[in-house]
Amino acid sequence: MKKSFTIAVFEGDGIGPEIMAPTLDILELLQNDTSKYRLNFKKVPAGANEYLKSGRALPDKSLEIAKSSDAILLAAMGLPNIRYEDGTEISPQIDLRKELVLFAGVRPVRVMTAAHSPLKIPQDKVIDFVLIRESTEGLFFTQGKGEVEANEARETLRITRNISEKLFNFAFKLAKTRKTLNQGKGDVICVDKANMFRAFAFFREIFEKEAKNHSDITASSAYVDLMALWMVQKPWELDVLVTENMFGDILSELGAGLMGGLGVAPSADIGLDNAVFQPCHGTAPDIEGKDLANPIAMISSAAMMLEWLGLKFGNQYLCEDAAKLQNSIDIIMHDKNNLTQDLGGSATTSQTVAAIQHSLTSQIKP
Ligand code: NAD
Repeated sequence: MKKSFTIAVFEGDGIGPEIMAPTLDILELLQNDTSKYRLNFKKVPAGANEYLKSGRALPDKSLEIAKSSDAILLAAMGLPNIRYEDGTEISPQIDLRKELVLFAGVRPVRVMTAAHSPLKIPQDKVIDFVLIRESTEGLFFTQGKGEVEANEARETLRITRNISEKLFNFAFKLAKTRKTLNQGKGDVICVDKANMFRAFAFFREIFEKEAKNHSDITASSAYVDLMALWMVQKPWELDVLVTENMFGDILSELGAGLMGGLGVAPSADIGLDNAVFQPCHGTAPDIEGKDLANPIAMISSAAMMLEWLGLKFGNQYLCEDAAKLQNSIDIIMHDKNNLTQDLGGSATTSQTVAAIQHSLTSQIKP
């Protein structure tokens, strides 16, 4: 059983370092028994401030460390005023997805406390589904390279059989794991626009072919516009959704809204060899340095990392600690005194972190 893991740590910009530092403290708190596992953190520079300093948003050495690590923990990168000459923002978090072929963007939509959701959730219903956003192609294929003329602009949507097969295989396997763990009913929906675009008919055809290899999981398809409606009308019926990059970009923000906002929405970008775990939000420069950032999305992303490492390398201690960490977050969210302003509370980042640490300490057996 593998016990020692290298974790590449990208603190990034804005509130990034403010939410990363307590996340690492919490991970240190969890690994008090080094006979079970050891996470070795390697901080690597990248982001808008790094671009100003060295002229490189994602230095080669940082990419090399990320590639060779067991997992990557990332806060957020980019600042609105720091841009390339063509006017677009630096976005090394997206470069990483492409460089490491992290095709599966995993966005769990789990409402921890019904009071934080804008929906009226019936008492007997639970919102707990996962949206998988393809993250290397789709309408982001020409990102930064779109053609703009005087009176016309064009971007290209690209769907490949190679990536789609891997994506759908990942979605069905995730549905299987969730079913085994009693988290889901074993149901995958392909979200597309196959009625209008040939590229999406192609996407759906690959999905239906892959579905035949997973007869224990229910497979169906839905158009993206209808799915937007279902996510609001009956999100408790959903289990695993899988979709193209741009549709996933938009629907994952809707999912974050259902949970109570960006401050609580974690994510993972997973490929065949590497995986990045990061909150869905950005660098929030408007609240930088004020001790106001909600650290929950970042810490939940770290819990996702522990579970992923545990399942990948067969180390059950990591899976157990992932569950303890997520449970601690769920517990503290019931008390408004522990919540930051974005969730209607008045706690600072440090106070929310202290509450999670306190809850966690009571679960860690000496
Ligand atoms: P943002 O997510 O940074 O902020 C949107 C709003 O949500 C702001 O009002 C912010 O204060 C609030 N917010 C975000 N995270 C919060 C948290 N943890 N706690 C409390 N409030 C929080 O989005 P933006 O303003 O569009 O982007 C700011 C910068 O971040 C831009 O440069 C953008 O390119 C970058 N960005 C990076 C990533 C990433 O690294 N993955 C993702 C999105 C945006």
